Amino acid sequence: MMTTQRSPIDPGPVDVIVVGAGYAGLTCARALVDAGRSVVVLEARDRVGGRVFTETLPSGVPVDQGGQWVGPGQEHFASLIDETGCTTFPTWVAGEALELRDGLLHRYEGLVPTSDKDGSADTVATLLELDLLAQEVSPVEPWSHPDADRLDRQTFAQWIDATVETPIARALVTTACQAVFGAEPEELSMLFVLSYAHSGGSMSSLIRTSGGAQERRIHQGAQAPALALAGMLGRRVVLSSPVVDIDHGRSGATVSVAGAHPRQFHAGRVVVAAPPSVTGRIGFSPALPGDRMQLIQRTPMGSVTKIHAVYERPFWREMGLNGQLVADRGALRSVFDDSPDDAGVGILVGFVAGSEDRRMEGLGVEGRRSHLLGELASAFGPDAAHPLEFVEQRWSSEAFSGGGPVAGMGPGVLTAVGPALRRPVGVVHWAGTETAEAWSGYIDGAISSGIRAADEVLAALVAPAGTGGS
Ligand SMILES: Cc1cc2nc3c(=O)[nH]c(=O)nc-3n(C[C@H](O)[C@H](O)[C@H](O)COP(=O)(O)OP(=O)(O)OC[C@H]3O[C@@H](n4cnc5c(N)ncnc54)[C@H](O)[C@@H]3O)c2cc1C
Repeated sequence: MMTTQRSPIDPGPVDVIVVGAGYAGLTCARALVDAGRSVVVLEARDRVGGRVFTETLPSGVPVDQGGQWVGPGQEHFASLIDETGCTTFPTWVAGEALELRDGLLHRYEGLVPTSDKDGSADTVATLLELDLLAQEVSPVEPWSHPDADRLDRQTFAQWIDATVETPIARALVTTACQAVFGAEPEELSMLFVLSYAHSGGSMSSLIRTSGGAQERRIHQGAQAPALALAGMLGRRVVLSSPVVDIDHGRSGATVSVAGAHPRQFHAGRVVVAAPPSVTGRIGFSPALPGDRMQLIQRTPMGSVTKIHAVYERPFWREMGLNGQLVADRGALRSVFDDSPDDAGVGILVGFVAGSEDRRMEGLGVEGRRSHLLGELASAFGPDAAHPLEFVEQRWSSEAFSGGGPVAGMGPGVLTAVGPALRRPVGVVHWAGTETAEAWSGYIDGAISSGIRAADEVLAALVAPAGTGGS
């Protein structure tokens, strides 16, 4: 973890200021530096990585508290992993998964629980239908779909109610929604869900382990490539520097930072690489256009808490289980085996998402710990109640994330203000996974959004005055 604050750099004018040192901001900065531009990256936290954070527990075991998996088709992330000397290994899948339904445990193999034949067939049919519908919606300009208005009026919950026949399939699709978006189906527009699914290939690829977004993990932790990028950028990355104001005009921008060293930075262009709602904390002068302001207010972050329970060994494997759990009720709706590649310890990772995450807020740290361990024990047996270590990471209480894993859009947002997502405002450009054209919501999307924003800025910097992308 990068915690040491280096001596403040000379805040002389630079070509570009990048706000945010998540994967989007770091990649953008690196592309600009490679193109010969002077850059400063201002990061609010005392570390880089944003929603990706590999924390070493007191025992020395590293766990990924935020983003962690990489899957097929995520070429930007895969090349960065390679380039930074990191390596990957497959998520553990050998054995049977558990389904907790109506309070009863069932074992199954494959993508979909099979304890009820009709429910299983209905779930497969629903996923297929979602995949087919998603192919019709552009992940780049979903508002251009001929039926965009209707799809954007409908919530995912309304579609589920109208389309999915069995209660079992409805519950499974709801669990998938909570896991993927950190949101309830009634909070999301159908147009948004379809465009998001298409951006990652299909809904099936988003929820798959083997062959999907959860296929592989990084030996060194998912933050390692970000730390390597920050190392390449050196003193250009200024930590503990929350940006509070951006004054922007035709000739450039002045960016004000609060914190222990309040000061101002000047640049020709600014790239803001943070989730839209989080940028609402920044004062812009002149004020942003109405559609951008609306976008900022109407793209709330999902609610998610990630927990890790560390055991002496992955004891569930001895019972023929692969550590995966899908549940139709309770706080923990999805669990995976998160043990290190050498299985030196056993680790279960679980997600509390959507309304359950909000409900758990009132329990406090100890209350949540005992509740969640109780749920793990009901699925994996009494040994699961006694981990060597237990940690939770509540993303909703992270000031500079506001939640996770991603921002979601309710009805009417994409068609009304979607085009403002990537459109620059004068010298201010936007990056971040929420602006990605592929794998939006994922680390891969964050990286490609950073590259796209850097290209935009480079084109604007060489354009003759008055045509520079403003
Ligand atoms: C629990 C969880 C699990 C996830 N699982 C996966 C996964 O397995 N695989 C995957 O690919 N993705 C996963 N994701 C999503 C992934 O982490 C994100 O898509 C990605 O990290 C987003 O990167 P970003 O650079 O766009 O934004 P962020 O990582 O949010 O970076 C934005 C940066 O801006 C900084 N910032 C904000 N405001 C200011 C300000 N005013 N001044 C200065 N700096 C500011 C923030 O501190 C942050 O560092 C997960 C996310 C979570 C939370």
